[in-house]
Amino acid sequence: MSLFPARAVVDLGAIRANARTLRRITAEAAQTAGAVPPAVMAVVKADAYGHGLVPVARAAVQGGVTWLGAAQLTEALALRAAGIDARILTWLYAPGAPLHLAVEAEVDLAVSAPWAVAEIAAAARATGRTARVQLKVDTGLGRNGLTPDDLPAVLDAVARLRDEGVLTVSGLFSHLAFADTPGHPTLDHQLEVLHAAVAAARSRGIDPELRHIAASAATLTAPELHLDLVRPGLALYGLSPVPQIGGPEHFGLIPAMTLEAELATVKRLPAGHGMSYGHQYVTPTATTVGVVPLGYGDGIPRHASGVDGAPGAPLGISGRRRSIAGRVCMDQFMVDLGPEATEVAGDRVVLFGRGGPSAEDWARAADTISYEIVTRLGGRVPRVYVDDETTQESDR
Ligand SMILES: *Cc1c(COP(=O)(O)O)cnc(C)c1O
Repeated sequence: MSLFPARAVVDLGAIRANARTLRRITAEAAQTAGAVPPAVMAVVKADAYGHGLVPVARAAVQGGVTWLGAAQLTEALALRAAGIDARILTWLYAPGAPLHLAVEAEVDLAVSAPWAVAEIAAAARATGRTARVQLKVDTGLGRNGLTPDDLPAVLDAVARLRDEGVLTVSGLFSHLAFADTPGHPTLDHQLEVLHAAVAAARSRGIDPELRHIAASAATLTAPELHLDLVRPGLALYGLSPVPQIGGPEHFGLIPAMTLEAELATVKRLPAGHGMSYGHQYVTPTATTVGVVPLGYGDGIPRHASGVDGAPGAPLGISGRRRSIAGRVCMDQFMVDLGPEATEVAGDRVVLFGRGGPSAEDWARAADTISYEIVTRLGGRVPRVYVDDETTQESDR
């Protein structure tokens, strides 16, 4: 019995196994290319894609990753506050952020815009410590990062501050626009722009230890982009960033999250009875229906509703595949269990994960990507951690 009638069960054994698999894949690719294996950074932003920041980070470190990636300073500092001593990189902050906290916590700060150099220098001077920075270069994504036009002046300033001992440059990195489209011509182009930025840094005596550009998709599909470090997020959680090429099993990954709930109510409705707001689903026969106590307030996409005669997102109930009927509400949605249903209130519903459909199935039903399905899961849904024996097996 639990206080909340639903939960996200997160298998930390799967996280550990996926971390090991990503290390193995990249080490094998490096061996084939006669290169040094890249370091692996586990990206744990957005509460570890909804899985829970600290437990996931610990499991990833147990799986052998040496770096953790956090978008926000708050996330990086929460990792340090939890006593995690892996290297941490954080890359998204605005002017006026308390960067001294990151410097004190020995968190590497990305320089994504020219103004950041002075702010990092001020933070380093205020703490009396040397800041560690990584230059984030916009090689074509058109998002955060130094443009090729920004680069010369930023490199000059960074070289001066490096000479004064105010900062050291631990890396130079970028992010891809079309990593989920293997062979896309922009991949080579972005790599060339990255190499040009590294050359510009070296010409000023700055040698970034770690050059990196690959997130999950390039880690799994483009070994030539592994460079010195890879930054997988989604793959660590056992989901595929390139479902058109293969699901998790294709890459040897194990989905870590299972979202499950108990049926809150099971009852009979006559034929022709509308269900949920706007009666978008009408019972075709006398039938048994169930109430699933999760809704858009918990991050269940309203786009996953079963409306206009089309079934909604899939569900696993009593070993059978069902789907959402009618509109998803704030706290609940409905399912038509059929005229012969034997389910009773309290029976288990698997929304996605072990014993049910996949997060990718949900992404397709809600016209989105699996990233969003797991990450948007609300704070009201308890996360329950298990360490499954089957994944411990595959872990060895
Ligand atoms: C989110 C993010 C990643 C991880 O992306 P995945 O596709 O989930 O592997 C890596 N690097 C940066 C800069 C990111 O913002």
